[in-house]
Amino acid sequence: MHEQPLIETEKNSSIRLKVTNRCPWECTFCHKEGSWDIDDIRWNQATEDNMKKLTGALNLKEVHFSGGEPSSNSRLEEISEGLSSMGLEVKTTSNAQFSELRFKKLIDSGIKSFNFSIHALTPENFIKTQNKKDLYWAKKCIEKQKKIIARAKELNINIKLNTVISTEDDIERAKEIYDFAKKNNISVRFLNDLGNGQISIVALKKISEDILQAEKFKEKIVTGSSSKTSYYKDKDGFEFGIKEIRNNKLKTLCEGCKESCTEQFYGIRLEQKDGKFYVRLCIDRKDEKSYMPLEEFLESNQLKEINNLLNE
Ligand code: SF4
Repeated sequence: MHEQPLIETEKNSSIRLKVTNRCPWECTFCHKEGSWDIDDIRWNQATEDNMKKLTGALNLKEVHFSGGEPSSNSRLEEISEGLSSMGLEVKTTSNAQFSELRFKKLIDSGIKSFNFSIHALTPENFIKTQNKKDLYWAKKCIEKQKKIIARAKELNINIKLNTVISTEDDIERAKEIYDFAKKNNISVRFLNDLGNGQISIVALKKISEDILQAEKFKEKIVTGSSSKTSYYKDKDGFEFGIKEIRNNKLKTLCEGCKESCTEQFYGIRLEQKDGKFYVRLCIDRKDEKSYMPLEEFLESNQLKEINNLLNE
């Protein structure tokens, strides 16, 4: 008989800061977290003031860079330094398409953890995930990632490998990454493809339970967010995670919503458009309940509900 997995909960104390719209890749499943036309954020007095307002209104401890590809913002180091000096923990998602020198600068600027999005270890498999079909370019992308991952290991930097599984056709590609992570003793997580609903969930179950014959030993739930990670152990004891979405809606955001919901309420995303900061609460909708100037958000019922949920 299988033992029940342990349930761990933590309160959401993180926001996603969408620092750029740009990215050198063209992943077929990319949703750019709901926006395709945002500014590159710069660290200046206005950014600092806005971050202070948000920190004062929420129990904010962590900022996670997203986008676009965060490192496509050439001033990412300045943002990271600024946020770190406010006492915030800074983390990033990245596809690691930068030099070792830039990597060192990003680390020195205060980024504490890197979630590397890695799609494949062969150019043939990599271009299956891309709209751009160029094998030479794909080979270079993979080489850059491997170099940065090796450097991170040497420097003992906190990294995770994330790979998206959209359908069962992705299992071979994901298994290659899993084997690479296991061999190099690096944390790895399989992510569901939000745009592919149940098909992606079924594929995740297949790789973890049928192919890897792993057993779930823990679930981590983030209160105040739809984020949930299930942790598995394979037959050799190697641990890996599966990122899932759990039911978590906000009354003030979701009541009466007719969208086909892909992500539920995940958390707060902050982005900049034409020099002004906006809060995005949903990647499927853009209306006055789900997308608003930061100033409005600070007075909103949505913020009250988020804080009430976190203080329960
Ligand atoms: S689509 Fe957005 S607003 Fe609608 S239910 Fe889902 S999270 Fe809520």
